[in-house]
Amino acid sequence: GSWLGMIGGGQLGRMFCQAAQAMGYKVAVLDPDEHSPTGAVAELHIQAGYRDEAGLARLAERCKAISTEFENVPADSLDVLARTSAVSPGAHAVAIVQDRISEKAFIEKAGVPVAPYVAVRDEADIQGAPVALFPGILKVARLGYDGKGQARVRTREEALDAFRAFSGAECVLEAMLPLDYELSVVLARGRDGATALYPSARNEHRDGILAVSTVDAALSASAADAGSGEAGNTADASLWESDNIDAQAERAAVAIATALEYVGVMCVEFFVLQDGSLVANEIAPRPHNSGHYTLDACACSQFEQQARVMAGLPLGDTRCLTNAVMLNILGDVWFDSDSGTLREPDWRRVLSVPGARLHLYGKAEARRGRKMGHVNIVGATLAQAQSGAARVAAALGIAWSTQP
Ligand code: ATP
Ligand code: MG
Ligand code: MG
Repeated sequence: GSWLGMIGGGQLGRMFCQAAQAMGYKVAVLDPDEHSPTGAVAELHIQAGYRDEAGLARLAERCKAISTEFENVPADSLDVLARTSAVSPGAHAVAIVQDRISEKAFIEKAGVPVAPYVAVRDEADIQGAPVALFPGILKVARLGYDGKGQARVRTREEALDAFRAFSGAECVLEAMLPLDYELSVVLARGRDGATALYPSARNEHRDGILAVSTVDAALSASAADAGSGEAGNTADASLWESDNIDAQAERAAVAIATALEYVGVMCVEFFVLQDGSLVANEIAPRPHNSGHYTLDACACSQFEQQARVMAGLPLGDTRCLTNAVMLNILGDVWFDSDSGTLREPDWRRVLSVPGARLHLYGKAEARRGRKMGHVNIVGATLAQAQSGAARVAAALGIAWSTQP
């Protein structure tokens, strides 16, 4: 069989690997961690850093197509690999989205609204920031994830303190927005520009980390049809006049992907504000946690889709065939608050819930806030999926959704 290459050995690489293997591919993964979740399942684990020349050369030698599961992959490494292999996404797109300053500017240029913000390179940028940005959030421009590298700041003084605490790293300061809810759109775009959109997921975050994603199959029925049409329509005025928020988000995501000349699977996170307007938050140049529901609810998962794009195959069917709720399993679930010790969660109880499908990432050590796995709960009706999810949450001792 032929080989596909993956940079990054976390859970996204692992699920990619499993999907690619199901289609008969072999996977080579580049990751420095001896015990990486992907390394444990890939046919070849090249244990080297993401900039390691010898490691990159071995990956390129073995694989005609290479992708990444990790948005902070050095863009230079993608450029090196692109000399001999088909690399998706390309260095250009990844470089834009891995810096919040260029990312936000790019999204705006694509005609999609973002939160009011300023780039912060020195203290004067905070001194001169409009009052409308307070209360706000200061986010480091690079390398932040799961709410790390962020500080909520009520005042200019707090923003200055937070900027100093980040050791003066470049940041963006954005206004704290009144969110109604959050949603995200995962899409795939092939080398030929063909685009396939997954139905949008509604997301609930806790402490800056995704906790629950919900997909209403009835609501989402139109998405795949919209996506299979002529893609690449950039934002026009009428985009924002539609009262269907999911359709707006889908069109905005396509506009961004097209402007990026993106190849691969990507996700755009959105905020829906209390006044009903839509704002793009950030782009992930890879499959996304909020798209894990596709593993059990869609004919073609976001990971199979990634393999298809790499291999130049037709894009898979993105229609959602069932309602789905995804619950993230964080390392916290292992901590027994009474005894203060670690204990294995009650998987039997989780698996006894109809429609529940357990996905664990094979990480050796449970840590608080660490993503260890997820459960997809599918149901013929959304109410069924939700009541199953409530039972799974109870079995794991985590809070069930606070959303209506
Ligand atoms: P991810 O793990 O998704 O990459 P991240 O560390 O890049 O997370 P963001 O997605 O920017 O961080 O923010 C995390 C969460 O914080 C958001 O999903 C949202 O719940 C909240 N948040 C971020 N920015 C704002 C804002 N401007 N107004 C209100 N809430 C916000
Ligand atoms: Mg992020
Ligand atoms: Mg985010």
